[in-house]
Amino acid sequence: MVLPHEPEFQQAYDELVTAVSDSTLFTEQPKYKKVIPVVSVPERIIQFRVTWENDKGEIQVNNGYRVQFNSALGPYKGGLRFHPSVNLSILKFLGFEQIFKNALTGLSMGGGKGGSDFNPKDKSDAEIRRFCVSFMRQLARYIGPDTDVPAGDIGVGGREVGFLFGAYKQMQNNWAGVLTGKGLSWGGSLIRPEATGFGCVYYTAKMIEKATNGKESFKDKRVAISGSGNVAQYAALKVIELGGVVVSLSDSKGSIISKNGITVDQVNAIAAAKLKFKSLEEIVQTEAKVFGGDNAVEYIAGVRPWTKVGQVDVALPSATQNEVSGDEAKALVEAGCKYIAEGSNMGSTKEAIEVFEANRGNGVWYAPGKAANCGGVAVSGLEMAQNSQRVKWTLEEVDEKLKDIMETCFENCYQTAKKYSTEKGNDTALPSLLKGANIAGFIKVADAMFDQGEVF
Ligand code: NDP
Repeated sequence: MVLPHEPEFQQAYDELVTAVSDSTLFTEQPKYKKVIPVVSVPERIIQFRVTWENDKGEIQVNNGYRVQFNSALGPYKGGLRFHPSVNLSILKFLGFEQIFKNALTGLSMGGGKGGSDFNPKDKSDAEIRRFCVSFMRQLARYIGPDTDVPAGDIGVGGREVGFLFGAYKQMQNNWAGVLTGKGLSWGGSLIRPEATGFGCVYYTAKMIEKATNGKESFKDKRVAISGSGNVAQYAALKVIELGGVVVSLSDSKGSIISKNGITVDQVNAIAAAKLKFKSLEEIVQTEAKVFGGDNAVEYIAGVRPWTKVGQVDVALPSATQNEVSGDEAKALVEAGCKYIAEGSNMGSTKEAIEVFEANRGNGVWYAPGKAANCGGVAVSGLEMAQNSQRVKWTLEEVDEKLKDIMETCFENCYQTAKKYSTEKGNDTALPSLLKGANIAGFIKVADAMFDQGEVF
């Protein structure tokens, strides 16, 4: 059920319901229709006040939230977002997506999401630490390793997870794997920081391989990426490692465009400066040596990269929701873009998705975030498994498991799309991964809800 004034949640709900309804699932098995009104209401929403002290000794107040959406497959699992735009519509959309995304990982995790309208950008480290302690003072009583295990998202990285974890441990007198994305020496998993970006590229690599019968790969592909945070940085590094050319990155102020390809040194310089909340414009100016020469970049203020990148083969939106409009999607298709996979959650607007899906017959293939970016939560699931066994897997072991999860997820979306397609007889068209991802995730959650008596 969608309440008024929840446009983002409405969009996420419509995407799932349209994908599932516009297939043969409901005609073949009408019982699944009964699940929609139940699964679209969160099991529980917690909303709380967070008061904290700024560096001037003044009281500050923010809203804190945790949406515990669905626990059919396991403890609630999903990130925390600290951003001034955070509200319940955004957290319900993110939590709803998370339910089906977590199902697609094949691991035992329910769906949830939380966060605050706190803006970490203009704050000192001490202010961020005091905010995290105050936030956890409320959240601690509602989470636990078998109840709800939050992680990072926009504005919440390793530093914030550390402050939150330290606060939880002190309050509860209990060292437990209650958050993922922890530091490597205190329960974190190797490859967790890399997992969303790497996983998105592994998923896209399978799309390229399948669409070309194994003839093509990322090698020499021109790849447009948006964002310059956690997901974008590691997506860029993996594309470069696989021989692709990264032609763009962006932030909330503008984009950098590169003709010859963004380099590893440039990504590393951005990663270090973003920890201090520097803008791409400032980074390019202050690190003139790294951003000059053969791999010089052009900075364009106030735009997203999609209409500025020229000819591209792949687009990986990796900043935030609704960051590809219908017109930008058309520009990408006209620029030759064949593969679009979302590192961000709901990166494409409804209009953009319509453009991509309408061009499937022309070899354009779109993968929604709930499939393409499930690598992050998958390695969070692996972090939970390591914490409960008190073991630590090697980098190679975790990377191998991540690759395996992304490839299995792709195959699941692909086969499900074919099975429930209404386009039967048209074997030459690429099946809709939009439908495949939504239907596969939905069936898994719905079956568990029937088994547990949540729907009957
Ligand atoms: P970060 O905070 O590390 O980076 C976010 C990036 O997006 C920054 O470059 C930021 O710019 C930019 N950005 C944020 N809001 C806007 C906006 N309104 N308009 C334009 N640019 C914006 O976040 P992550 O990399 O972790 O997350 C990126 C996306 O990936 C989100 O949609 C998130 O939900 C999704 N995701 C993340 C996962 C993870 O493991 N981290 C897992 C699955 C999905 P600036 O630097 O100027 O703030």
